[in-house]
Amino acid sequence: MTALNELTIAGALAGLDKGDFTSVELTEAHIRAMELTRPLNAFITETPEKALTQAAASDARRRAGRAGLLDGIPIAVKDLFCTEGVPTTAGSHILDGFKPPYESTVTANLWRAGAAMLGKTNLDEFAMGSSNLTSYHGPVENPWHRKGDNRKLVPGGSSGGSAAAVAARAAMGATGTDTGGSIRQPASFCGLVGLKPTYGRCSRWGIVAFASSLDQAGPMTRIVEDAALMLTAMAGHDPKDSTSADLPVPDYRAGLDAGVRGLKIGVPKEYRVPGLPAEIDRLWREGVAWLVEAGAEAREISLPHTKYALPTYYIIAPAEASSNLARYDGVRFGLRVPGQSLDELYERTRAAGFGAEVKRRILIGTYVLSAGYYDAYYKKAQSLRTLIARDFARAFEEVDVVLTPSTPSAAFAAGEASDDPVSMYLNDVFTVTVNLAGLPGLSVPAGLSADGLPLGLQLIGRAFDEATILRAGRAIERAAAFTARPDGMAWF
Ligand code: GLN
Repeated sequence: MTALNELTIAGALAGLDKGDFTSVELTEAHIRAMELTRPLNAFITETPEKALTQAAASDARRRAGRAGLLDGIPIAVKDLFCTEGVPTTAGSHILDGFKPPYESTVTANLWRAGAAMLGKTNLDEFAMGSSNLTSYHGPVENPWHRKGDNRKLVPGGSSGGSAAAVAARAAMGATGTDTGGSIRQPASFCGLVGLKPTYGRCSRWGIVAFASSLDQAGPMTRIVEDAALMLTAMAGHDPKDSTSADLPVPDYRAGLDAGVRGLKIGVPKEYRVPGLPAEIDRLWREGVAWLVEAGAEAREISLPHTKYALPTYYIIAPAEASSNLARYDGVRFGLRVPGQSLDELYERTRAAGFGAEVKRRILIGTYVLSAGYYDAYYKKAQSLRTLIARDFARAFEEVDVVLTPSTPSAAFAAGEASDDPVSMYLNDVFTVTVNLAGLPGLSVPAGLSADGLPLGLQLIGRAFDEATILRAGRAIERAAAFTARPDGMAWF
């Protein structure tokens, strides 16, 4: 039999149903894998006892014929989701010692569906980054390496710990959050499926806020079917989040294999950015060909404001972050560095508690919101955001799905992408547009680079039409037949 930690979620649910193994056995296999893969630094907090308690309760439910959608499945949770009584750090020093007295809605939904929590995964501080190099808890290592070269590579960010854990078979799936690409980019770097749902599809309640108008939770898994299963459990209306949509949650697994015959695929010409590596361009064309072969129609579309997306995002996201992060003042949560006065306590706490990238974003955010600059930067960015959303609205009058690369490169080594923050921001060139427009985006592993690293393709859909991008993603998955696995798995 396949090692239990090699199974997909869908495969494990079938095995649990047949009684081939118990959730306790499945969970124990993942706890072992989590211990063996500790050098990756994917987890900030491991919660094996909690996982085993949940698994035992799941086995009892299954015996009683009351198993839920994800019953008995051990998963990992990005350490940006508040989990009751379990440390929640957001990858920052400033939340040291913070144990939330409540559970985020998305994780509560997952536990209600029967999933078990293996632990909390590492991330860029406050989800700001594309490499996991900004975590106070140290960098995460990608389980993949270039062919014949064992230099450590980044797993992407900010949900890099979640991506590394799932790629290394230490968790069956994981939650991520995506403000500008933080689910899709690490999924692409680690050979995984990553889904950013429509804004409002999953509740943001209990997730540490980065940029509230852009943040969305979503699943990271090894196959499309598993992402569909996890999303079905995670999504839904929540009266505690006024931006969560009061819409029914479909069974995303149903219809997954219906194929793409007649589907109209848009290929945006503006995404053919200068300097796009030839192998990524080739894979993108191959992706179009796969869908056409399966019966879809492809056409070129134009999203003319694409070139403004990165500057727009890097004004709006820091502006919202500067406001959201004002609450970390040494009084209410986590770290406190005392001073002679209250102002000095604030200053010392924030100086010691935040890392360089977070401070950079707070400074940019307060600058673009300040009187005198507000109109020149923040207001202009808001106007551009509307134009970017309008580009997509027009495109979706003609096509059902938009296909693009997920990232402009494969995983890189620390230091290779240069220490210049602007070049790090370029990683998000294909993903931030989707957050700005509030649309769903799915990254699916589609091939390997010449160096043997995974590359993803992104499918963008109409608002609340996750079902169609999942169906198209399933078609790509089938055509790509991506079976490669990370080489750095000598531990199994
Ligand atoms: N890399 C982007 C940033 O640094 C996106 C982060 C995210 O999606 N959380 O802001």
